[in-house]
Amino acid sequence: MAERPVLRVCALYPDLMNIYADRGNLLLLERRCAWRGLGFRLTGAGIGDAVDPDAHDLFYLGGGQDRDQVLCAHDLVEHKSAALHAAAARGAAILAVCGGYQLLGRSYELADQTIPGIGLLDLTTVRHEGPRLIGNVAIEVELPGLEGPRVLAGFENHAGRTELGARERPLGRVLRGHGNTGRSGAEGARRGHVVGTYLHGPLLPKNAWFADWLTATALGLDLPLDPLDDALEDAAHRSARRAAGV
Ligand code: GLN
Repeated sequence: MAERPVLRVCALYPDLMNIYADRGNLLLLERRCAWRGLGFRLTGAGIGDAVDPDAHDLFYLGGGQDRDQVLCAHDLVEHKSAALHAAAARGAAILAVCGGYQLLGRSYELADQTIPGIGLLDLTTVRHEGPRLIGNVAIEVELPGLEGPRVLAGFENHAGRTELGARERPLGRVLRGHGNTGRSGAEGARRGHVVGTYLHGPLLPKNAWFADWLTATALGLDLPLDPLDDALEDAAHRSARRAAGV
């Protein structure tokens, strides 16, 4: 009998970069793996911990307040950047949300200092003195392995404005909400299996189809995965879309 696949997830800074219940995203992955008979293994990597690029299929970096981001940024560059670059190069999936998304870029400029990112995505973020970009948001995305455009619905709350480099592609097109800058119409960034987005909190519970895309991408499985009873997940998705007005 073929061995059952195990989704090996590494949560980066699960204590510091965990604003808005980012842990719920990991729980959802775990539950859906269990329901499908897939294995699930979660490892945390905090300040000072080394990361093995070959030991995980999916790396997760959640959102954080500026002061927590400052703590993590230097550690990320010093102790984890090389491993994350190596993991991305061999096809591991990386999902970074909000503050984590900003740290995948080149830098995040605050009022009194500029903190480095790991440059996995070609983007820069500047903290803006203007209003925070807050609210329900819906974006349209097209992902490899899925037919046609889909809607990701969620919530954003950030002071940073993120500009993509010339060749970097957004994750999606803003239907409602602010996205990367509040003006560009672009939300997030995606290069292959590396995804950054401002949609946080329960991103995956509100978009179970996207959790399945991530799982399949991380494990190299074909889509669609085995169907589940998604009545509650579909209701959560519809409610998040309604909240965003889509
Ligand atoms: N500190 C960052 C900002 O305000 C990210 C916030 C977050 O992760 N919610 O732009």
